[in-house]
Amino acid sequence: MRRPLPSGADVVIIGGGIIGVSVAYYLRKMGTPEVLLLERGLLGEGSTGKCAGGVRVQFSTEINVRFSLVSRKVFDGFREEFGVDPEFHQVGYLFLASGSGHWKVLLQNAEMLRGFGVEVDLLAPEEIQMRWPFLRVDDLVGGSYSPGDGYAGPYEVLQGFVRGARRLGAVLREGVEVTGIRVGDGAVRAVETSTGDIVETSVVVNAAGPYAAKVAELAGLDLPVRPLRRQLFFTEPFKDLPPQFPLTIDLAPGWYMRREGEGLLLAGPQDRESSFNETVDFAAQEWTAERSLHRVPVLERARIARGWAGLYEISPDHHAIIGEFPELRGFVCVNGFSGHGFQHSPAAGMVVAELILEGRARTLDIHPLRPTRFREREPLHEPLTAFRD
Ligand SMILES: Cc1cc2nc3c(=O)[nH]c(=O)nc-3n(C[C@H](O)[C@H](O)[C@H](O)COP(=O)(O)OP(=O)(O)OC[C@H]3O[C@@H](n4cnc5c(N)ncnc54)[C@H](O)[C@@H]3O)c2cc1C
Repeated sequence: MRRPLPSGADVVIIGGGIIGVSVAYYLRKMGTPEVLLLERGLLGEGSTGKCAGGVRVQFSTEINVRFSLVSRKVFDGFREEFGVDPEFHQVGYLFLASGSGHWKVLLQNAEMLRGFGVEVDLLAPEEIQMRWPFLRVDDLVGGSYSPGDGYAGPYEVLQGFVRGARRLGAVLREGVEVTGIRVGDGAVRAVETSTGDIVETSVVVNAAGPYAAKVAELAGLDLPVRPLRRQLFFTEPFKDLPPQFPLTIDLAPGWYMRREGEGLLLAGPQDRESSFNETVDFAAQEWTAERSLHRVPVLERARIARGWAGLYEISPDHHAIIGEFPELRGFVCVNGFSGHGFQHSPAAGMVVAELILEGRARTLDIHPLRPTRFREREPLHEPLTAFRD
């Protein structure tokens, strides 16, 4: 027998990925009476379930660094707050620059990050070689290493937020798609669902990840978030590299590598064209092998065991889009994280809950992330992403 949906809620969240469940948790934590989250499939089955789990402070804009610092505090206290180990492996992040452009970015970043009190080591190729002898360095200008960074478990963090939100009384429903958004007098009124229910509400949170533009369309809004396939590959157990080394990003090709248990996770390519395609292809495996062998020659002895593909949710300036459009009250976007939504999910949930309950975000100034910045011609710029433009 189908459980009926409530006929109304203070806030309806569309999408049960890491962003939606974080928003649900913080809304309840801050006292919103009725929080209803609707996920059309299973919680976490979207981009969140495909994510590499990278958690870093090494970004090149202040807003991204601030999101990372606020989120890091939550990851650090995650086990106490949520009763779930987030599996944070603090192995550091190592960015490698083989051209003067990328090196300049790393130099500028290091200065900015040190201003925030973040430890960053700028390393010459010889120092990189000394610390991680398995890396090829003859074509590098240098690298930047942040020992506090690392990777965590997307499943574990998702479960933490889900359990936390439910414990506090949020209703999280799977298998319910939002098919329509009713608006009137410049404000949100209700959502229509695949189950035939209509849920009245004055606040809808768009947490639909790569599908965010489609959800915005339901409300008559044009949200510039596009899906972009990224493929990843896993090797069989591989003992010829140390059991622990930094998540290493080769900036020029947009390739990265980290440990995944006894094997390795190797970044495959990212598509150039936007689509919802989530298949894994042979050309991507070839690309991955070529980039991997170039940077880590010993990988010649590794065997790829399997691959998967997921969708990045790309915004025009590779920064999140958070807030309302002035033309529609109550439609709150929290989208476009462009490949770093997992690590910024705690801060994102917090600021969205504050925005909804208090009218403005307290923890961080999110004005630079407002949805109207593109038409106002005030985009941000973030060169330190693991993918190419
Ligand atoms: C290969 C890959 C590697 C990545 N690596 C990292 C990383 O190392 N670090 C990092 O921080 N981030 C990484 N990311 C990005 C990260 O995964 C995303 O930023 C994050 O998961 C976005 O979460 P989300 O909740 O917005 O989206 P999703 O997890 O996609 O959740 C959105 C949900 O909305 C649901 N939905 C859509 N439309 C509707 C509707 N109409 N009604 C109901 N439900 C709907 C979907 O079913 C989906 O479950 C990676 C992404 C990919 C693809």
